[in-house]
Amino acid sequence: MRLNDTILEKNSGQSDGQSPQPLVVPRDGHPISRANISPNALKVLYRLKDAGYQAFLVGGAVRDLLLGLNPKDFDVATNAHPEQVKQLFRNCRLIGRRFHLAHVRFGYEIIEVATFRAAHTPMDEDNAVDEGGHRVLDDRGRILRDNLYGTIEEDVWRRDFTANALYYNIEDFSIWDYVGGVADARAKVMRLIGDPETRYREDPVRMLRAVRFAAKLGFSIHPETAAPIHKLAGMLDSVPPARLFDEINKLFLAGSAAKAFEVLGQYGLIEHLFPDLAAAARETPDSVAMKLLRLGLAGTDERVRADKSVTPTFLFAVLLWPAISRVFQRLPGSDLTDMERALTACDQVIARQQTRIAVPKRFTLPLREIIAMQPRFDLRSGRRALRLLDHPRFRAAYDFLLLRAAAGGVEQELADWWTEIQTLPPEERIARVEQRPAGDDGAAQGGTPNSGSGRRKRRRRRRATRSG
Ligand code: ATP
Ligand code: MG
Repeated sequence: MRLNDTILEKNSGQSDGQSPQPLVVPRDGHPISRANISPNALKVLYRLKDAGYQAFLVGGAVRDLLLGLNPKDFDVATNAHPEQVKQLFRNCRLIGRRFHLAHVRFGYEIIEVATFRAAHTPMDEDNAVDEGGHRVLDDRGRILRDNLYGTIEEDVWRRDFTANALYYNIEDFSIWDYVGGVADARAKVMRLIGDPETRYREDPVRMLRAVRFAAKLGFSIHPETAAPIHKLAGMLDSVPPARLFDEINKLFLAGSAAKAFEVLGQYGLIEHLFPDLAAAARETPDSVAMKLLRLGLAGTDERVRADKSVTPTFLFAVLLWPAISRVFQRLPGSDLTDMERALTACDQVIARQQTRIAVPKRFTLPLREIIAMQPRFDLRSGRRALRLLDHPRFRAAYDFLLLRAAAGGVEQELADWWTEIQTLPPEERIARVEQRPAGDDGAAQGGTPNSGSGRRKRRRRRRATRSG
């Protein structure tokens, strides 16, 4: 990062001692170039400026550009009120329960335009505000009236980390820094603005955001920002499960899942997100299932890096696997098939997990299928085995099988067999399964989700009847 040291204090000498003055890093003192800013974001910034408003690029985009990274989205902050923003853009929608934000849409790209907020308005507070931006109710329903919208000087304090609180001014391409964010970004430090404990109490998700940015950007968490996390980790229990689902996806589907998992563990946060996983990890930290989880997260990161798709379905299958295996092992031996046992274990774990993180059905249903298909990979004799190849979830279930093999949960030979069969023409596939003696199925070590507990009586019995 090229940042020269000629950082100026805005209006220096004119300070009234009341409002804080930013450090202003002029264009030639920082590396952010308009060439790296989305043309649509630039359009929005310029149009606001030309209409006489202040307009800044803010948040993660400025931080990422400063670090030489590609921002994933571009957020704008302005002193124009949402209705005024709407008047400037035909392609604009006001969102939020009380229209706090403007979304300006350009095809697939949405530029979010937020009006500067007054002090002490929590980020996600959407209720109890009228259209003019006045708060009308407090949380006990008492009538209040204070202004929701404020100045940039007020807006900065409600942001979370110093590196996320930088403002790139479209007027002269300078960066305004009220909180030492440029220096912290340069030193790769995540530091909360204000008193850390207070800021986590306001919004416990900030603990997860600290971990996310540390993992994704390779930042350290400033000691004072890190200190209260252990003590306050339990506050995550009161965060709505739907919000945690969004946050978990951001944590684990952004290319640094393995690191994020490690850091979450260091701060005692896994207990509050995935209690059953935490219990399994405590009991058998080096189990095959934990190894699968680590390999699965590393594989997810590789896919993100290679620009391949990643889904919450596979991610949650990986994250829940240690708990599912544990329940599976403990289910009393009955005459359920392995597939039925796998589903029972899966459903128990998902039901408990939903109380913490709300994973929508459209992800848990295919997740169940991936898990339930695992015992079926053991059955390799007879044409019936080939039906698995046509299952709509075959690809994901097969990828999961590969992970199990890599973790040592099933023989590599089993995974290789399923790899090879996919490459064969139909007649050879049939030959393959017909030449295989039925008695060989299940002989493979690790037929069950937990590597060979050998509970397959009923199926063997059935097959014996058939062939006998
Ligand atoms: P990403 O690269 O994931 O988009 P980001 O920093 O842009 O990272 P967003 O969630 O897009 O994060 O939020 C945009 C900005 O809004 C942040 O940079 C931060 O200034 C502010 N912000 C978001 N969530 C919070 C929060 N929970 N508390 C305080 N400030 C927040
Ligand atoms: Mg962002």
